[in-house]
Amino acid sequence: MNFIRIITTLMFVSSTLFSINDVQKLIIIGSGPAGLTAGIYAGRAQLAPLIFEGQEPGGKLIGTSYIENWPGEKHILGYSLMETIREHAKLSGCTLSPSTVVRVDLSSQPFTVWTDFDEVYQTESLIIATGSHPRKIGCTGEDTYWGSGVSSCVTCDGAFYKDKKVIVVGGGDSGMEYASALSKYTKDITIIQDLPMLTASAPMQQRILSKPYVKIIYNSLVAAMHGDGQKLTEIEIINQETNQKTVLETDGIFLAIGHIPATQIFREHLEVDRFGHLLINDKGQTSVKGIFAAGDAIDGHYRQAIYAAGTGCRAAMEVESYLISTQKHRYKFAKNPF
Ligand SMILES: Cc1cc2nc3c(=O)[nH]c(=O)nc-3n(C[C@H](O)[C@H](O)[C@H](O)COP(=O)(O)OP(=O)(O)OC[C@H]3O[C@@H](n4cnc5c(N)ncnc54)[C@H](O)[C@@H]3O)c2cc1C
Repeated sequence: MNFIRIITTLMFVSSTLFSINDVQKLIIIGSGPAGLTAGIYAGRAQLAPLIFEGQEPGGKLIGTSYIENWPGEKHILGYSLMETIREHAKLSGCTLSPSTVVRVDLSSQPFTVWTDFDEVYQTESLIIATGSHPRKIGCTGEDTYWGSGVSSCVTCDGAFYKDKKVIVVGGGDSGMEYASALSKYTKDITIIQDLPMLTASAPMQQRILSKPYVKIIYNSLVAAMHGDGQKLTEIEIINQETNQKTVLETDGIFLAIGHIPATQIFREHLEVDRFGHLLINDKGQTSVKGIFAAGDAIDGHYRQAIYAAGTGCRAAMEVESYLISTQKHRYKFAKNPF
């Protein structure tokens, strides 16, 4: 945890000391596009949401380069986009806390959450928007070149590799989809698969095997990633049968080896699918009444910021209806001066 985060957290904790036992109407966990959009809607509905931002204020887009698929923004730095949305959330009536939620008790209402600064809060409703983490390889150079040649999102970054040399890691459905999507931009694509065969469904495999320019290297693991200090330039792979090491030059590597929803602390309380995504109904409500979820924490398929924002909007609107129906919320209208 860095120094600035500790100072902001201490300032936040001291500023809330006198209201620590108040029951909040709504707590939102997560400050990516899902959590902040939920905050904007809930703030405007007078729910005074408290958002726990966690380790990554602004979410995953904060660390990415340019975003080119957010409506209305043709080309914007992920950092600028998310800072503007954070500002918007504050103006809409949200309180942003830099704390991370480390424990929850969802067995009775009001729900209770504990933070990494030993704060305890109670809330009538909850929106979980904690996102997911891409599964990483864990080899040398991966973190150094993350976002500078190493990516886990072709929809987001594929267009930056027009006519470049790219590698896809993973021979499952995602790997095939990634290779297929990349073929719109380049015809120099290599798939690295750790097994002696692909594991994607037959039609997905067929789609790739019919493209003669896609090369597949089987039985191999990525052992290291190297670059020039600014961007990735090559990777080292190792054949599991022969132990032979090979260096492959590349401009970009796309990891298609899965995502892990950041839902660990909720799993003993809420239903999840086999990957750990929170299960929700068509109103975005989880298996416990009053607890809603949004964004990558519920979605293993689309994983896009605008989709996360849309589900955040749904969660907030449904929280508003829920709190009104349980008589925990009533609008206050300013007196008509006339
Ligand atoms: C490299 C990369 C590039 C991408 N580029 C694009 C793109 O160009 N366009 C696009 O549409 N999508 C892109 N995406 C996908 C997009 O980032 C995600 O779909 C989106 O951010 C999901 O939003 P979210 O709010 O669900 O989660 P996230 O953005 O992941 O935010 C999760 C939030 O939860 C917080 N959190 C987690 N656990 C806790 C906790 N216990 N307590 C408190 N807070 C917690 C984190 O600090 C963070 O604020 C990209 C993804 C990556 C990895």
